[in-house]
Amino acid sequence: MLPKYGTGPGTCQGKPLGRQGLKLWDSPQDHPERQNVLLLFGFKTVLKAMAGKPATCRNCGSFVHHHLEERATKFTLFFIPVFTTSRSYRITCTNCGYVSSISARQKRALELQR
Ligand SMILES: [Zn+2]
Repeated sequence: MLPKYGTGPGTCQGKPLGRQGLKLWDSPQDHPERQNVLLLFGFKTVLKAMAGKPATCRNCGSFVHHHLEERATKFTLFFIPVFTTSRSYRITCTNCGYVSSISARQKRALELQR
């Protein structure tokens, strides 16, 4: 006799879950050694434009304003930035577009010159 479903109260428990049975989740009692932990992490580079300053370009040699840009690589957990893993700075010449990377120490030195 075929089990009938949805014909009244209490009938949905008629068929036991066998090998072909659809099991949506494992109960922790079935696999005590297995822990279902989902970790979603990654890295993300955040660009931040900062106030630049006039300087002499290394490439074209003209004394023009330079854009200063901060590049921070952040560790993300579930798409939320948790902490910054590395930070670098780039200056761009507004005359010729020459881009040069500077370290955080050089960037601090630039700020002190102001
Ligand atoms: Zn230049």
